[in-house]
Amino acid sequence: MNSHEDRQKTGLVFNVQKYSVHDGPGIRTIVFLKGCPLSCRWCSNPESQRHRPELAYNPGRCLTLNKCVRCLEVCMRNALIRKEDASLRIAREHCEGCHMPCADACPANSLLVYGRERSVDDVLAVVEQDEAFYARSSGGLTVSGGEPLFQGNFVTALLREARRRRYRTAVETCGMASAALVREVAPLLNYVLFDIKIMDSAAHKAQTGFANEQILKNFSILAEEFSDLPLMARTPVIPGFNDTAEAIAAIASFIAPYPRVTYELLPYHRLGTQKYHFLDRTPPMGNVTLDKNRMPRLQSVAEGILRARVQNLQQPKTPSS
Ligand code: SF4
Ligand code: SF4
Repeated sequence: MNSHEDRQKTGLVFNVQKYSVHDGPGIRTIVFLKGCPLSCRWCSNPESQRHRPELAYNPGRCLTLNKCVRCLEVCMRNALIRKEDASLRIAREHCEGCHMPCADACPANSLLVYGRERSVDDVLAVVEQDEAFYARSSGGLTVSGGEPLFQGNFVTALLREARRRRYRTAVETCGMASAALVREVAPLLNYVLFDIKIMDSAAHKAQTGFANEQILKNFSILAEEFSDLPLMARTPVIPGFNDTAEAIAAIASFIAPYPRVTYELLPYHRLGTQKYHFLDRTPPMGNVTLDKNRMPRLQSVAEGILRARVQNLQQPKTPSS
């Protein structure tokens, strides 16, 4: 694929976030792609899950129909229903296939579209704006989601073109993709953030919709076949799912044979709750919260296993008799 072809490729992007310092080394621009094969109950980006544009409504920003009717004026499908308090209800069954002029007409950003088709060229024009920061901080572009590998053709074109322009590249992945795609994308990357949620495959399937064998296989491919590629494993610590010493120890033990792999625990948070409501969905986790007091213990379990790995590697080899 030549540069011209790659630059014209389009994908469904729901956000481009600048100045991130949490998603790979240095200062980074994060490109969020829409669509994910998993449906994790704790997902904090519900707007990322479905591979199609979605309309969201934030009633807190709405000027109300007492003062503004711009969205009603452009909606040709009678999909916006007036509620008693003069806010709106979206009759979503009417919105399918609409190009969502209501969001463009809204002066208050109360109606939002999650997911617009954007070209590689268009996305990289935004990434380019912070070139100076990447150079100074060893930062660059991180592709996230959703699952970035879900849009395989687009992410490959985006990463290939980014590398032509000499950006350092990273992905944040749940690991659910074909092995062939993982092998195709890996040479285009400088860094990988890879989620390992739990080793118990049945529990993984129950809470995410898929078993984890393919995910673990892809992790091993990256760790073994691309030994120069920095790889960070991450575990979102979820109450009632993997917030036990046993669950974390099992993951750390899986990672331990790979001395290059780093590991991070991410405590569950509920920051995405509001977005579920904006999309008229019920947050699957309800009001459950994580007992944060568990984190130091889980951290030390993981560190203990991974520290032993380092010590084992440093032990002088005993000559065989
Ligand atoms: S997306 Fe289209 S059909 Fe739905 S409310 Fe907006 S303008 Fe109406
Ligand atoms: S255009 Fe926006 S601010 Fe005005 S009524 Fe509609 S949603 Fe509310």
